[in-house]
Formats: sequence, structure tokens, C-alpha cells
Amino acid sequence: KMETKVAVVTGANKGIGFEIVKGLCRKFEGTVYLTARSEERGQEAVKKLEELDLHPSFHVLDVTSEESVQAFATHISTHYSGIDVLVNNAGILDFDKSVSSYEDAKKLIDTNFMSLLTMSKILYPLLKNNARIINLSSDWGLLSNIRKQVWLDTLAKDNLTVEEILQFVNDFLQAAKNGKNAFISFAGHYGDYKVSKVAMSALTFVQQRQFKEAGKDISINCVHPGFVKTEMTKGMGDFSPERGARAPLYLALDAPQTLKGTFVWHDCHQVNWD
Ligand code: NDP
Repeated sequence: KMETKVAVVTGANKGIGFEIVKGLCRKFEGTVYLTARSEERGQEAVKKLEELDLHPSFHVLDVTSEESVQAFATHISTHYSGIDVLVNNAGILDFDKSVSSYEDAKKLIDTNFMSLLTMSKILYPLLKNNARIINLSSDWGLLSNIRKQVWLDTLAKDNLTVEEILQFVNDFLQAAKNGKNAFISFAGHYGDYKVSKVAMSALTFVQQRQFKEAGKDISINCVHPGFVKTEMTKGMGDFSPERGARAPLYLALDAPQTLKGTFVWHDCHQVNWD
């Protein structure tokens, strides 16, 4: 097995994830995995970086598929001693639709949030001591986006559990089943996306606590990359994708290892989540 360091970025064939891979190829001392759910789109992205004389490795990784995550984990554990940096960047949002059907809301939450539980179960055992996990959250992932007092109280608890976060997303999905007004009353427009990112942020803090309790020196932080012009936002936004990658790259490469379980703004400063 190779002792080289390994960095992995999900959903990296375009947008902010692609720019994170680009930055890692320039500064990370080790192998950088550009992963994508589509082999074709992934290989095309690799080709673009090759033209810049950057050389990421590629593997297919669909974060919503246990088999796909397992296949990637097997690939990594066959060739390397573990993972040093993992950037959970893959995500979806239909910017044209601010209120979703139950089915669409479920799909969004499966992709943006439930996938993290699959990644934790299958990929986190491969994390080396001193590893860093970076979760691409959002300003829509700040707790104040939620309009239900019971969840504002519950999610802010120091002893919050993963089960309670699951109850939170399921409570939202129940509301989404009950139609437009119930959907909006939970977290306003784009409520499914907000719930997915609030849940992601809450999970970040719970998992940091769990790593600590297990005696592991792994850091996990979440980050708002700014409002970034990508396909997700239909080209709207304040920042280029490269600028959007700044804070994620800071967390992956430059932040002190003591920075743990925090919410980081696009300017690399820590902000309060709740
Ligand atoms: P893009 O739509 O440009 O890129 C999203 C990436 O995620 C694509 O590569 C997409 O692949 C991939 N993806 C989607 N579903 C899956 C899946 N099941 N498995 C693996 N990959 C998948 O979006 P951005 O670059 O803008 O967003 C990146 C992250 O940043 C997201 O988590 C987003 O929520 C977050 N963010 C973005 C903001 C912005 O203003 N742009 C603001 C705040 C947060 P494919 O090409 O195959 O669809």
C-alpha cells in the first residue's frame, strides 16, 4: 500500500468542487481524487485539469449509492493506507423551484444530507488520525433559517444526537407531504435545501464530538462558500467558483488542526451557527 497522502472531493466535475480539486492539485502534497457520479463528466473534468498540467486521480462516486461509496472505499483501502482530507461537496438544488413536492424534497435531502451518513459509515473508517473533513454547507444552513421553535431548541443542544437530526428531517418531510403552506411554514422558500444544510451543519458538530469521545484527532468543519456563480445558481451569485473554493481550501490545507467543529464563513472566519 502507498503511504502517500490522499485527498478526496465529492461532486467535483464542475462548480466549486472542481475548483477545490484544482486548488488541492496545486498545494496538497499527495494524491487528489476528483470524484463524480458520472464517469464521463468526471473524465472530462480531469482532462481540463490535465491541460493545466494538473494531475488528479479519478474515481466514480455517487454519494446516494451505498454500493458506489463501498466500491470507492474498497479502491482506496486496496491502494492507500487511508484518507487525509475529505471534502463533502456534492449537492443539488433546483434554483427555479422554491417549493418542492415531497418526492423532490426527499431526493434533495437524500443527496445533500442522508448521503453523509452513508459516507460516515463506509468511508470515515478509512480516515487517518489528523484527517480533515470539510462539509459544504451554506448560509441557508444556519440554524436561524428554521421556523419551528422546538427544532431551534433541540438542534442547539450540546448533547444533540444523530437520531434527533433524523427526527428533524423527517418532521420536515412530513410537512412537505402536507402541501405548500406546511412546506413554507417549516423553513420558508427552498425549505428542503435549508433543512438539508441545517442538518448537515448540526451533524458536523455531533460528529466532531463523537471523534473526540473516540479519542481521534480528526477535525470536521462546515463552511459557507459564499453566493457562487455555478450551474446550481443558474450563473447568479457574487463570486466565481474559484473564489467559492477559498474557504474550503483554507480548511483543507491551512487552518490549524485545532480548528474543530466550527462553521466557517467564505472569508475564512468562524461564525456562530446558532
Ligand atoms: P454545482 O451544481 O455546480 O455542482 C454540484 C456537484 O455535485 C456536481 O458535480 C454534481 O454532479 C454533484 N452531485 C450531485 N449529486 C451527486 C451525487 N448523488 N453524487 C455525487 N455527486 C453529485 O453546484 P455548486 O458547485 O454551486 O455547489 C457545490 C456545493 O456547494 C453544494 O453542496 C452546494 O449546496 C454548496 N453551496 C453552493 C452555493 C452557491 O452559491 N453555488 C452556496 C452555498 C453552498 P453532476 O454534474 O453529475 O450533476
